[in-house]
Amino acid sequence: MKKVLILGGGFAGVDAAGYLSKANYDVTLVSDRDYFYIYPTSIWVPTREVGFKDVCVDLKELQAAHGFNLVVDGVTEIAAKENRVTLSSGKVIDDYDYLIVAIGAQKMKHPGIENTLSICAAPEQSLQIADALDKLIEKGSGKIAFGFGGNPKDTSAVRGGPGFELMFNVHNL
Ligand SMILES: Cc1cc2nc3c(=O)[nH]c(=O)nc-3n(C[C@H](O)[C@H](O)[C@H](O)COP(=O)(O)OP(=O)(O)OC[C@H]3O[C@@H](n4cnc5c(N)ncnc54)[C@H](O)[C@@H]3O)c2cc1C
Repeated sequence: MKKVLILGGGFAGVDAAGYLSKANYDVTLVSDRDYFYIYPTSIWVPTREVGFKDVCVDLKELQAAHGFNLVVDGVTEIAAKENRVTLSSGKVIDDYDYLIVAIGAQKMKHPGIENTLSICAAPEQSLQIADALDKLIEKGSGKIAFGFGGNPKDTSAVRGGPGFELMFNVHNL
């Protein structure tokens, strides 16, 4: 049985894992999160219309449903020519026939980005936005600035829609 190593437990990684397990490949999926985060429905987390857990699916459940191997660990190095992947724990995986890299797109870290919160970044930031909104409501007035940006070197990394979706949700709140 051919071995497939998939890096990343988002839509791309999980979909590939399910599909290839069904096609009788020996699949191992590596994700630095132990849950699959449903970004599209996370737009309601900051306004508390859904809970954080409502937009997470335990990767163990998906593993059980599809029969792939799961490793919860970060990828620190990919040596494609040597067929070797190194993980945060120091573990090395080098016995695969095919490699799928599905670790998502990263945005450029523009100066000042550290002062913002985004629903398109680490999942936990949605909860930080919710807390910030609570504080603003308690205070009774204040200012909120919305915007969106991307990576000029990877135009697929732009997430304009969620910015508008979040803005409308906050407006309704
Ligand atoms: C708020 C929001 C709303 C959206 N709404 C929609 C929508 O309505 N419709 C639509 O079609 N698309 C929508 N999108 C876009 C869609 O969610 C993305 O295109 C999709 O998530 C990309 O999937 P991916 O698997 O490529 O990457 P990601 O979802 O980013 O997954 C990458 C995975 O890799 C893991 N990972 C990253 N680095 C490492 C590492 N070093 N080691 C191990 N694991 C790692 C991450 O933990 C994650 O599990 C939305 C996106 C956002 C942010």
